[in-house]
Amino acid sequence: MALRTREEYLQSLRALRPNIHKFDRRIEDVTTDPVTRRTVESHARAFDAAGDKDRLDLFTCTSNLTGERIHRFNGLMPAMEDVVQSARFKRAMYHLTGTCTGGLCVGWNAMNVLWAVTGDLDRDCGTAYQPRLKEWILRAQEKGLVTAGALTDAKGDRALKPSGQRDPDSHLRVVRVREDGIVIRGAKVMIAGVAAAHEIFILPGSAYGEADRDYAVACAVPRDIEGLTIVETRRPSDGRELDPGFDAPETGTSQAYLLFEDVFVPADRVFMCGEYGYTGRIIEYFTANYRACIGACVAGQGDVMIGAAALVARANGLPAKTFAGKMVDMAVNNETTFGTGIGAIAMGRRHPAGIWFADPLLAHTNKVLVATLPYETKRLAQEIGGGAVETGCFPSYADFISPEYGHLVQKYMKAGPASGETRARAARLVEWLTLGAGVPGCMHGGGSPDGARLVVRSRTPVEEFVGYARALAGIEEAVPEPAQK
Ligand SMILES: Cc1cc2nc3c(=O)[nH]c(=O)nc-3n(C[C@H](O)[C@H](O)[C@H](O)COP(=O)(O)OP(=O)(O)OC[C@H]3O[C@@H](n4cnc5c(N)ncnc54)[C@H](O)[C@@H]3O)c2cc1C
Repeated sequence: MALRTREEYLQSLRALRPNIHKFDRRIEDVTTDPVTRRTVESHARAFDAAGDKDRLDLFTCTSNLTGERIHRFNGLMPAMEDVVQSARFKRAMYHLTGTCTGGLCVGWNAMNVLWAVTGDLDRDCGTAYQPRLKEWILRAQEKGLVTAGALTDAKGDRALKPSGQRDPDSHLRVVRVREDGIVIRGAKVMIAGVAAAHEIFILPGSAYGEADRDYAVACAVPRDIEGLTIVETRRPSDGRELDPGFDAPETGTSQAYLLFEDVFVPADRVFMCGEYGYTGRIIEYFTANYRACIGACVAGQGDVMIGAAALVARANGLPAKTFAGKMVDMAVNNETTFGTGIGAIAMGRRHPAGIWFADPLLAHTNKVLVATLPYETKRLAQEIGGGAVETGCFPSYADFISPEYGHLVQKYMKAGPASGETRARAARLVEWLTLGAGVPGCMHGGGSPDGARLVVRSRTPVEEFVGYARALAGIEEAVPEPAQK
């Protein structure tokens, strides 16, 4: 049986070697430690949903490899509908958690990308990577594994290629190839959902040339593999998340630095080693589906923002419809990124190895929208809610229940017919969604918007469009680009 329950999922995380740290402290149990438990809780909700008959269709699917029912996040995506369902899954995850569950999505996307690229590699180079990958996927499907995805390197000087860096470890690289596997060194940084993951899928962070052959590596490693030290990143809400009560929801998100110190990866987990000519298509395929689907993530969070803003308005004593115009603008932003992503998927194509990829021009256009529209949605949620939602302009939960003066805080927190606590809870949620830990990587998650703009630029056929304009304007003479002055 490939479907796992929440309890089985939590138990399997507890069985991993503790190698995650934060604040110079090793986290012994990620499922209960205050700094990781909310990330784990967010991911656990996907397991609950898979067991819920009303959500089962979205949260599970039939494996095209075995015909078994599996968690959707373990599936290959051969058809357009599979990628559309992936987008809908992400929107639904935001409804359940309010935030990013990167452990359910980046590794999932990476595995699909590598299925296509190993198909190309095996066909062109006579390698046998895809059968290895298939074994890994079958195991992930059978065990319901959660897999974080790691592309982003420490990078060093942004103007230099990996091989030109002062420190050759600035990008993760292969330091030794052995008969039975490879040894890797370097760091992957800002990796989402690692604390909730069993596995980490590693891909190259960019397209590389021959000089950077050692950096062309793709593999999957257990999260607790020997030689890997993980450091959770600092979040703006740190400290407050340790408080009980309404100061933070039960869900959360986190990123991590992954520090690889000569880590041995057995050959059956290696899916690319040195084939630099194929790194460009990894990035192309990865960003196409990722940037199409991320529109659904921010739409899902936008939906929650509309709901939270409506709750604060009512708790403030005002009908939510007072702000109907703002809520329409929020909804338009949500549907714009969701719809552009769905359009990118619909305009995509099936790779010969049997994976559906979204159209790059539309997907990268969506990344630019994702890096702008949600900030406007957040602004509107703050405008509706008043000062209480904006910068934490009301006391903490501990003060709210203080035996000495809590009754006074509660008395003055109350506004409309709802209790002061309800107003406080709704306001903190808006703050969390718009300023704090609930803010997902709209700007740089999935790559920077400027990178997306480069793709939009390269795929916009300006000369073809000049031709349409010339014809309509009745211009017959050639109008070349003036020489650079
Ligand atoms: C919340 C969040 C979650 C994330 N989760 C993951 C994850 O799960 N897995 C993962 O692999 N990564 C993840 N990332 C990392 C993300 O992919 C990177 O942040 C992104 O690719 C940008 O890289 P960077 O942060 O190093 O920015 P930088 O490379 O430092 O870029 C900063 C700015 O400089 C520009 N720039 C960079 N180099 C050049 C150049 N040579 N010429 C001109 N302009 C340049 C960029 O376009 C950008 O505007 C996450 C990030 C965030 C914020």
